[in-house]
Formats: sequence, C-alpha cells, structure tokens
Amino acid sequence: PLRAGGLIVLGGGESGVGAAILGKQKGYNVFLSDGGSLKESYKQELLANNIEFEEGGHTEEKILSADEIVKSPGIPEKNELVKKIRAKGIPVISEIELAYRFKGDSKIVAITGSNGKSTTTSLIYHICKVAGLDAALVGNIGYSFAKQVAEDPKPLYVAEISSFQLDDIKEFRPDVSVLLNITEDHLDRYEYKFENYINSKFKIIENQTEDDYFIYNLDDEVITKKLETLTLHINQLPFSMKQEVKKGAYIKADQMMLKIQEERVSMSIYDFALKGIHNQHNTMAAGIAASTLGIRKEKIREAVKTFESLEHRMEYVATVRGVDFINDSKATNVNSTWYALESLKKPAVLILGGVDKGNDYSFIEDLVKDRVKAIVCMGLDNKKIHAAFKDVVKTIVDTQSAHDAVTTAFNLASKGEAVLLSPACASFDLFKNYEERGKKFKEAVKEL
Ligand code: ADP
Repeated sequence: PLRAGGLIVLGGGESGVGAAILGKQKGYNVFLSDGGSLKESYKQELLANNIEFEEGGHTEEKILSADEIVKSPGIPEKNELVKKIRAKGIPVISEIELAYRFKGDSKIVAITGSNGKSTTTSLIYHICKVAGLDAALVGNIGYSFAKQVAEDPKPLYVAEISSFQLDDIKEFRPDVSVLLNITEDHLDRYEYKFENYINSKFKIIENQTEDDYFIYNLDDEVITKKLETLTLHINQLPFSMKQEVKKGAYIKADQMMLKIQEERVSMSIYDFALKGIHNQHNTMAAGIAASTLGIRKEKIREAVKTFESLEHRMEYVATVRGVDFINDSKATNVNSTWYALESLKKPAVLILGGVDKGNDYSFIEDLVKDRVKAIVCMGLDNKKIHAAFKDVVKTIVDTQSAHDAVTTAFNLASKGEAVLLSPACASFDLFKNYEERGKKFKEAVKEL
C-alpha cells in the first residue's frame, strides 16, 4: 500500500539515503533526520532529489508525528528517540522492507549469517554475472537495496542482509534465502540474549512459502536445533561437510556434490577459488543458490573457479623477508578469527583487539595454542586479551596503531611464518571502520 503521509528516515548513511530516495520517488512526503553529520556526497544526493533533511540532531515533534519510520540498521533500540517512537506505536520498517514494497516481480536472493555474508553474496553475484543474468548486488555489502530499486531496477537482486535489517521487516520475502551460520555476535543489540539474535536471523524465512527456497548449514547446531522447533513449508536445501543430503550440497572425499532438481554438479574442492573450510561452506551455499536460479553446471563450475576473493578477508598482502602478511580485518568476531587460524598452515603472529562485542576467547584457545607464537594487541583496552591468553602464549604485546602493530609483529615473526591481522573485534576504538583498519595495516606493511 502506498502511504502518502510523512515517511521519516532516521539515519543518513547508505541505507537511509537510499530509503529516502526511493520513498520520494514513490510519492511519500519524506524527511530524513541524522543525529550526526552527513557525508557530503549523501547531502548532494538528497538535495538533487529535493529531499528535506536535518543533521546534528533530531526534531523530535516532527519525527513523532510521522506516519511511518524507516530506521537505519545502525540505530539501536535503546536509543531514547527510538523508545519514544515505539511507545507511540508508529510503524517502523527497515530499508530492505521499503525496497521490497517496490521491487515488483523481481526476484530476491537474500544472504544472512554471522560470518561469510559478503563473501557468499559476492560469489552468488559473480556466478549470476558469469551466467549472463541481469542482477544487482545490494544490501549490507555497501549498496543500498532501496536506491537500486529507485534508480536502476533489475530482475534479480542478490542481497546481503544483516540481522539489524531483518529486525524491522514486515512482508520482506526472499525467493531464495541463505542462512550460513549463527554464532554469538552483536549481543549488545539483543539484550545479551543469544536467543533474540537467533530469532532475528530466522526472520529471513518468516514470510517464505512453498515456492521459495531456504538454503542452510546442516552442520550448524544452532540452526538445526532451532529448525526442530519450527514447521516449515519451504523447499529446504541444506549443505553439509559431514553427511550426504538428498537435495542440497555436501562434500565427500574432497568432492562437492550439488543436487537440486535434475541438475547435478560435482566439483573438486581444489578447484574452488576460495580456500579454507569456511569457504567450502560459502561455496556450497552459493552453488545451491545458483542452481535454484536455473544456472547451468558449466557456468557454476567456471564461476566458482574464477572468483577473486574480497579485500580485508584473508587477503594476502605481501611477503617481507620470508614473512607473509595477511589482512583479515573483516574478522570482527571470535568465530571468524577461528576460521582464519584454521585455514592458516604456518605459525603466526596474531594481531588481535579493538572493540570487544562480548567475546568468548576460549573458543579459539586451542587453535591459538597450536598456531600462534605471539599476540600483538591493537586496541585501546586489551585487558581481556591478556587475561584470556596469558597461559597460552608467551609473548603478548600492546600497541595502539596499525603502524606499531605491524612493526612489532614483524620483529616477532621469523622467516616462513605469517603475520595475521584477524582482530576478532570491531574497529571503532582506533579506526573509522574495518576497511580503514585493513588499509592502514596494508600501508604499514608496504612501509616495511
Ligand atoms: P560477513 O559479511 O558476514 O561479515 P565476510 O564474508 O565479510 O562475512 O567474512 C568475514 C570474516 O569471516 C572473514 O574474516 C572470513 O575469513 C570469515 N568467514 C568467511 N566465511 C565464513 C564462514 N562461512 N564461517 C566462518 N567464518 C567465515
């Protein structure tokens, strides 16, 4: 239903600006409000679209008189204004819900999970491109879904979806959903209750029906336990490294087997462009998604072989005097650091630290003991890291910049070893975001 009253967008980042542009185009009376300052390029976009906005604070009475509110994913429920909006009962939606409202009969493949979203989303998009499909890459990966719908609608959207975006959906229904894994993350946004976070991830299938597909990780006990409590009428396509499945994908004797309808694909894992166990999960998920779109096996094989891995995710930077430097800045939780260490075949100096989101370091203790000779902390507050690893690793050093962390790590590493930046933490104490952290790391390596 097209509502002509006031649509207020809270937050003026990529997602909020996109929502404002789409809302305006569809005839809403749009106002955007940001408590901080807007990026110049976003301001220009709002002006070009004749969208009214404010920054550096919220005009409360105006916001509280809205007919509907689009809340940007970065704004938490505990925000005072959000509490007032909830108390007043104003409908709140996320940007992907607005995009969904206007996507027409285009298809959506939506990918969520605690780790591997960007990798898997990009891989699915890459397979679509290789197969010649007219698709767009949208969502949490950096391009607003709503803006894409407004400015360049496509028959197919491959969308990375975060739990924050799922929190405020109403009718959003992907044709194909992918749930990669669920591990504790972002608990600060979920009242420190893991169950709330699990429920948020499962909202991706909430509106799906028997015509839709649900691709999920059968080896993930959090997912399978939750599934036992649900009665679903969706086509379920699991993937596993441990057991054969009738429909879906599995890996046996280093071969991936993919079976959807008639189409069967078998492929050696050594032909996957993406290395490491976690990427076998991601590749299976992407392969199944591609099959549900009717993409032929030759194209899937070709695309899986030719995909180039993304920046800041186990990205090889350089080898300096026999020491490999690897940038895994995107590892913002303990689970992804576990996979980083697991896929590393050499002893390493590990650069850890930043903003702790409730990390349980015991999860990586064994791997650290086995593969890490020294830890270089890179963060404002490193107490928890010291406490967690003091009995496991002899050398733990504090630093507070990428430059110091890199030179310290380089001094600690020997020929044939690696320096791995896989911080298990968010980056906001010392950097703008994980991209800046990764870039600063790479710059410091180049300076060596
Ligand atoms: P997201 O978008 O969910 O944050 P990315 O694809 O950007 O995920 O990868 C984030 C980090 O998680 C990387 O450091 C990567 O090594 C690790 N990772 C990637 N895929 C998986 C997976 N399936 N399971 C666990 N860790 C993963």
